[in-house]
Amino acid sequence: MAVTLETPLSRVLGPKTATGMAEQLDLHTVRDLLRHYPRRYARRGEQTDLADVQVGDRVTVLAQVRSVNTRPMRNRKGTLTEVVVGDGSGRMKLVFFNHRHASLRVNAWGMFAGTVGEYRGEKQFAHPDMHLLDGADDDTDWARALVPIYPASKDVSSWVIQKSVKLLIGAGGGFGDLVVDPIPEEIRARHGLLSLAAALLDIHRPTTVEDVERASHRLKWDEALILQLTLAARRRAAALEPGIARPRRAGGLLDAVDAALPFALTEGQRAVGDELAAELDRDQPMHRLLQGEVGSGKTVVALRAMAQVVDAGGQAALLAPTEVLAAQHVRGIRQLLGPLGRAGELDGAADGTRVTLLTGSLKAAAKREARAEVADGRAGIVVGTHALLQEGVDFADLGLVVVDEQHRFGVEQRDALRAKGSRPPHVLVMTATPIPRTVAMTVYGDLEISTLRQLPSGRGGVSSSVVPMTEKPGWLDRAWARLREEVAAGQQAYVVCPRIGDLAGPDDEPEDADGAPAGDDDRRPPLAVLDVAEMLRAGPLHGLRLDVLHGRLSPEDKEARMRAFAAGEVDVLVATTVVEVGVDVPNATVMVVMDADRFGVSQLHQLRGRVARGAHPGLCLLVSEAREASSTGQRLASVAATSDGFELARLDLETRREGDVLGAAQSGSRSGVRLLSLLEDEELIAAARAEATAMLETERGLADHPGLAAEVARLATDERADYLEKT
Ligand code: ADP
Ligand code: MG
Repeated sequence: MAVTLETPLSRVLGPKTATGMAEQLDLHTVRDLLRHYPRRYARRGEQTDLADVQVGDRVTVLAQVRSVNTRPMRNRKGTLTEVVVGDGSGRMKLVFFNHRHASLRVNAWGMFAGTVGEYRGEKQFAHPDMHLLDGADDDTDWARALVPIYPASKDVSSWVIQKSVKLLIGAGGGFGDLVVDPIPEEIRARHGLLSLAAALLDIHRPTTVEDVERASHRLKWDEALILQLTLAARRRAAALEPGIARPRRAGGLLDAVDAALPFALTEGQRAVGDELAAELDRDQPMHRLLQGEVGSGKTVVALRAMAQVVDAGGQAALLAPTEVLAAQHVRGIRQLLGPLGRAGELDGAADGTRVTLLTGSLKAAAKREARAEVADGRAGIVVGTHALLQEGVDFADLGLVVVDEQHRFGVEQRDALRAKGSRPPHVLVMTATPIPRTVAMTVYGDLEISTLRQLPSGRGGVSSSVVPMTEKPGWLDRAWARLREEVAAGQQAYVVCPRIGDLAGPDDEPEDADGAPAGDDDRRPPLAVLDVAEMLRAGPLHGLRLDVLHGRLSPEDKEARMRAFAAGEVDVLVATTVVEVGVDVPNATVMVVMDADRFGVSQLHQLRGRVARGAHPGLCLLVSEAREASSTGQRLASVAATSDGFELARLDLETRREGDVLGAAQSGSRSGVRLLSLLEDEELIAAARAEATAMLETERGLADHPGLAAEVARLATDERADYLEKT
């Protein structure tokens, strides 16, 4: 039977290799193997890797034998052979006990794979796996200028993969008999893309670096196009859903909100507001992402949209990521609406509505009451946490869903809430983490995007500095002194720590380490709120009114403490990242982040957004033991130096991507994306998006492109969600 892409590897490879590939590299079919691309390419004589391999890395290197030295062992029987190999200027020692590799001679070339160890300060491989380039069978392969180095595993070495791929080459000298190109000729021609068969041959067996580049460009197109087709299909399906128009009505809640606002809207708020107002007025449900710098005033934009929907007879739900934030929203909205937000109460306005809070921590009776208000439509505006998503929460007429701080919610949760409308409601997603264009086109590719770039005028801004504890321990005292000065001047402060501390013991994980590089080593545990608070009370902040806030407190307790802080009854709040999102206390002007290196870039940016809320300039101090010159130290320095959220989002993506690449390197990821880089392939992604949109806009959609349709279906069943979440 002819080999196809679906043929199991066990039918074309030896049992040991096939099993190793399946179990260790997650490669099961011919398709999997052909999509298992080399991680890089080695060239003989070129200094590549030896210079920078790290102890503990599992690596494959191409190198030449420089010296071989065999001697009897001192304390045991047998011999010890030391072989020095080099690749240009890098050198490494290989150690063998009782070795009998006759072909391991000076000047021989070979590939060596193993885990890098260290002996007396020298890097070495003990008993590496090796493949010497002397066999007649594959001499022609070794003569190639570029030797592919594959993500390999314990039992499946890079050269076994190389050989296995070679086995699949057909009579025509390529993969032409094996693969059918899913990308239509016309698109290939338009973008100058290789055929799939040619690209696969070149990525696995290139002659020049240009071969690799052209091949990977084409293969990235596969990934981008299929992802964009998936997203375009979603957008299209959403656009075809029948929604309900919620036109703007004069003299209602929205006008009341506008009249009550204590400030003038910024130009951006006004423009985005108009955009939303127009879209709510259509019977196609809105799907919009509102991204805006921390403090750009997204809440009021959302509130105005909610008011419009209430005026049109519908209900609006605001989904917040934390109870603290949900409570704050309710407080703010009620205050703004005054009597109009208390319909049904003694002093309420008859033509107003109710603003209802629905969170998991409400007492049973209160929860029942809240649900009833939601179900019978008395509650025009419903604010809540995950509890809103639960079964048993039914809306009378859900017209608009607003999701605040989207990065805390997955697509499924957004969909769960959407499903609570009898007809699909309008959806507005808000995020303060600015999204690079490529991410917007991929992860959020099913949403239209509005951006608030401008901060309300009269903001003092935040200045940030790193306090490098290792190099400049004295600076911490000055940090506390600065904090005391601000408090003396009537301002307030946050001190943020990565951990809660105290009784929890080993369970006391960081509350949230979004995007922070994993703690991979034997560093001391991160600083904890409870310890730091005690230390500050007893020492540098003695005499100030200090309180703590963290996720282990009961929701009422959290809410009460937050309220006390907002009311100015507390000077310093020592907290975990519960203060990260959205918390709004304009009088707070200083933030000291302890162990700042334990937080991700975007997270730090979010955190310091808490102290740039009023007219008074904010100060953010990033305390860390990381050395200034280390990559971590530099990451912190960039956060301190930049206030542009977009730039930081990019930096965040870079650091995360590195982590992902390292994590996935050995495992042969099954997600659709292997080569595509959100950072580097912006143009390609944009072009693929345009093609995908155009294709789906035609009458026949993918009907004439069964290959593409099949790939899209495959991605859907594979781990698309997984990929989308990871990024
Ligand atoms: P974010 O976009 O980070 O969610 P918020 O909506 O919480 O920001 O707004 C931050 C602060 O700015 C709030 O105190 C809000 O009342 C205030 N604010 C919003 N819009 C304006 C404006 N146009 N002028 C002045 N202050 C504003
Ligand atoms: Mg907000």
